[in-house]
Amino acid sequence: MDLQDKRILIVGLGKSGIASAQFLQARGAKVTVSDSKSPDQLRGEIPALLDRGIAVETGGHGERTFRGQDLIVVSPGVPADVPQLVQARIHGVPIIGEIELASQFLQGRIVAITGSNGKTTTTTLTGEILAASGFPVVVGGNIGTPAISLVEKTTPSTFAVLEISSFQLETIQTFRPFISCILNITPDHLDRHRTFEAYVKAKARIFENQNETGYCILNADDPAANALTSRARCPVLHFSRRSEVAAGAFVREGRIFFRDGKAGGKEQEILPVAEIPLKGAHNLENVLAAVCLASLAGCPAETIRQAVRAFKAVEHRLEFVAEIAGVSYYNDSKATNVDATIKALESFPANIHLILGGKDKGSDYSVLNDLLRQRVKRVYTIGAAAEKIESQIFDAVEIFPAGTLENAVRRAATTAVRGDVILLAPACASFDQFQSYEHRGRVFKDVVKSLAGK
Ligand code: ADP
Repeated sequence: MDLQDKRILIVGLGKSGIASAQFLQARGAKVTVSDSKSPDQLRGEIPALLDRGIAVETGGHGERTFRGQDLIVVSPGVPADVPQLVQARIHGVPIIGEIELASQFLQGRIVAITGSNGKTTTTTLTGEILAASGFPVVVGGNIGTPAISLVEKTTPSTFAVLEISSFQLETIQTFRPFISCILNITPDHLDRHRTFEAYVKAKARIFENQNETGYCILNADDPAANALTSRARCPVLHFSRRSEVAAGAFVREGRIFFRDGKAGGKEQEILPVAEIPLKGAHNLENVLAAVCLASLAGCPAETIRQAVRAFKAVEHRLEFVAEIAGVSYYNDSKATNVDATIKALESFPANIHLILGGKDKGSDYSVLNDLLRQRVKRVYTIGAAAEKIESQIFDAVEIFPAGTLENAVRRAATTAVRGDVILLAPACASFDQFQSYEHRGRVFKDVVKSLAGK
């Protein structure tokens, strides 16, 4: 894409919007950015943009700003039905997202990982295995470093391992990974995608441009992901912790194997399940996905084994915080949807004190009830979703309406006895009481540390 003197509008000034603006401006484009936030909310970002000669519009999107643009780059947080975007679309202005933009400039091959849960864990682990195998690797996307900021670091031999969200997939056009992976598809973000079908459709776009030269990896144990098998035009491999797959990664007698699925192809033992240092069956699924990705990329079995063994839980993902008076504290602040909370509960056999709540995303919490009955001693509700949650789980478990996270932790600590687990796995977004799930996780850890007297 030739960018010289192109008029390009960036909508949404998040991390990826800012990185895109800088990238495009440095390549000669005439860049404008537009965000609905007030100048005050954006005061940290604006000066650096203006200094570079980038025009900035704040406090809403002017109709005129959208006129006469050659290209619009829209941030993942901006819904597709914003009226100015609808209008621009009618006028034929191409509208893409930052992932699409980045994919047109990244050199080398893209490994793209999506799913409702497990993306960050699997992306990080895959990046570490590829790096341990000696491949030049960059890791980013939805995970933190925008893909567009990785462009300069890539060469034709680079693997760009990208975590991709469903929002990012809504605005791709030609994005074509070498290997794509869908870890699972369970209800999430229904406030934005509206229906589960629309959400599945967005996820499936990850392989829509792939052909015989690439691979798609699907979770055979996840009904919605597995159902996409016949929709891909590239070879599909599977991973499963329940059954042996014809091509992909699976468990046999406590050991992980990889089968490449080619005629006369090989089957290789990779590592014993017992060597995985992460808690929970869901993390076995993440490891199986990473084994599959890394094996297809050409990593040797022994290196995969060593890299998995050395892997540490990513912060805020079922992260062990402390044991105080025989009670264990786990921070799973990243459990921002009901399925992640289910996985967290499944990781402990019983005696759980569970902290639930935050900003509701249109979720059904009653699906937690069986696990609450079986494994949870008490639920502590916090945040804006508390009442809704209480109304859906009240006949399954004892509830303490704690209001705040700090109150919940302190209450749980006074009630819990030796052998119990206090678990933050809130099934909700954090934005009602916190800046982010990271902020929520840090507050949890700070309260736990203060209990420990540290
Ligand atoms: P993502 O980037 O997709 O949000 P993370 O690796 O950050 O994924 O994990 C998010 C949450 O989901 C955490 O609470 C984690 O414990 C849980 N989780 C991780 N992997 C899986 C999985 N394969 N299936 C379900 N839940 C998972």
